[in-house]
Amino acid sequence: MDNTLRLHYLEAMGIDVWLPRVASVVPELSAAEPVPPLPEPQALAELPAPPEPQPLADIGAADAGADNWEVLAAEVAACTRCGLCNTRKNTVFGSGDKMADWLLIGEGPGQHEDEQGLPFVGNAGQLLTEMIRALGLSRDEVFITNIVKCRPPNNRDPHVDEVASCQGYLQRQIALIRPKIILAVGRIAAQTLLATDAPLGKLRGKVHTLHGVPVVVVYHPAYLLRSLPEKRKAWQDLQLALHTVKAQQ
Ligand code: URA
Repeated sequence: MDNTLRLHYLEAMGIDVWLPRVASVVPELSAAEPVPPLPEPQALAELPAPPEPQPLADIGAADAGADNWEVLAAEVAACTRCGLCNTRKNTVFGSGDKMADWLLIGEGPGQHEDEQGLPFVGNAGQLLTEMIRALGLSRDEVFITNIVKCRPPNNRDPHVDEVASCQGYLQRQIALIRPKIILAVGRIAAQTLLATDAPLGKLRGKVHTLHGVPVVVVYHPAYLLRSLPEKRKAWQDLQLALHTVKAQQ
């Protein structure tokens, strides 16, 4: 990504937050403009204490011991469990480190993801990449997937039966990865993972758990690109997630 475009994404998330952490990869940017400081560290101290980490004893029906990535990926690639298989170009299994501490779960593939068979490769994906950088990580160090593995036509929300058809795949991914934290990216992911219809504003800002794994809800980057006022809250959500992972170490 060129620096102008990156700056655009950084601005969408609050440049004073993001610039220092990416300064090492865009040195000319920091030379051209003064770099405002990162938020004061005491922000972390104000965050609620994360829950005690619990063993990943039960991940629904998934049995990671009898499962492996090759089998799972092949099943997803050949899946015809719901109608989305009729309109997809590619399934989007997920990408990244299969042993990652961080598992990011979005809603479902869009047009670019459907074309490339990879998650979060469009505009929202570029901002998600910057959010990951702000955590001090790269996309290769996390695992990124979605609630549904096939694109809903016209980017509509996935239907209940489509989510249900895909649920087992996600459960098996979680069981195989055994992440230290799950980031639920956006409303659909949060509501599905937490089995609630509460609005995102009520779900963010706290640490939930799913089968013993802490879950932090973050705004969807596509929403952040449209809603600049939420950028500060987005940074707070990432800090909460960082704090939660660090508390386990
Ligand atoms: N939005 C999502 O939720 N997932 C993707 O993979 C791309 C866009």
